[in-house]
Amino acid sequence: RVKQDGRNSYAFYTESLTQESVAKLKLQSALHDALELNAFHLEYQPKISFRTGDVVGFEALLRWVDPVLGSISPDIFIPLAEKIGLIQDIGRWVLKRACEQGQRWRKQGVSFGRIAVNVAGQQIQRSSFVDEVAEILKQTGLPASSLELEVTESCMMSNPELVSQDLAKLGQMGIELSIDDFGTGYSSLSYLKKLPLHKLKIDQSFVAGLPFDTHNTAIAKAIIAMGHALNLQVVAEGVETQAQADFLKDNHCDHAQGYFYSKPKLVEELTAFLIADDRV
Ligand code: C2E
Ligand code: MG
Ligand code: MG
Ligand code: MG
Repeated sequence: RVKQDGRNSYAFYTESLTQESVAKLKLQSALHDALELNAFHLEYQPKISFRTGDVVGFEALLRWVDPVLGSISPDIFIPLAEKIGLIQDIGRWVLKRACEQGQRWRKQGVSFGRIAVNVAGQQIQRSSFVDEVAEILKQTGLPASSLELEVTESCMMSNPELVSQDLAKLGQMGIELSIDDFGTGYSSLSYLKKLPLHKLKIDQSFVAGLPFDTHNTAIAKAIIAMGHALNLQVVAEGVETQAQADFLKDNHCDHAQGYFYSKPKLVEELTAFLIADDRV
């Protein structure tokens, strides 16, 4: 009796494992085909200046809609792309598309500040990264002064010497550099001072607790103060309410991004934001 129970639960266990790995394999092979199938597109989310209310830029966010599996979150497929060696190709595609869009807006006379593109750790750690960025700017015609790159703390800290040289080159070209999801990874404060950065983005997990959670208010205030002390602009991501926006503005945060202003949208849906900014 005992034996049989054991066998049954073993069979059950392997079966569910198999189902899980089949699902994983399906996801992987779909991701392999995604570029060729044209299954990616970008959405753009505006960043707003607390001081003037103007749009100061847009963040490009990658979307994947597989014909069979449907829409899959970047929180799932970006780490997968890193794991299976697809992030270089996908990352290059994103950068190219975002730069093309920026150049299109420039030709239309739309002032959009900067286009921000997320860069994965593996991308920036490649020795050819700076050349790739330069090449894409040349191909698309977008000036470096219209581009911003968002990098997470952990991907810089894993090889700070090497990465900081590349960041310096990108900075010299006129590209702005932001630390994304700040406060969630671990940063060495001494490197933070040495790296040629322009902005810190307060992670949305801290913004979510504003303005009432005493822990999060303390962290947000500290990040803003530290950012300003290091001569960096501070951006709050995930701003969803007026009360959060008021708190951040009162505490001298520079820029805001979040559903309170706009969800990420297709270019065609952004007209209101682009027109509003164009009047300035
Ligand atoms: P992230 O760079 O920190 O981007 C911000 C995420 O927060 C986006 O999620 C955005 O849609 C979401 N968001 C914006 N405002 C709000 C808000 O008010 N409330 C809430 N709850 N969420 C908000 P998304 O688009 O799902 O992207 C998730 C992450 O995937 C990004 O986080 C980024 O790390 C990564 N990612 C997205 N696109 C790319 C890409 O092209 N390349 C790389 N390497 N990573 C990307
Ligand atoms: Mg980002
Ligand atoms: Mg972020
Ligand atoms: Mg994030």
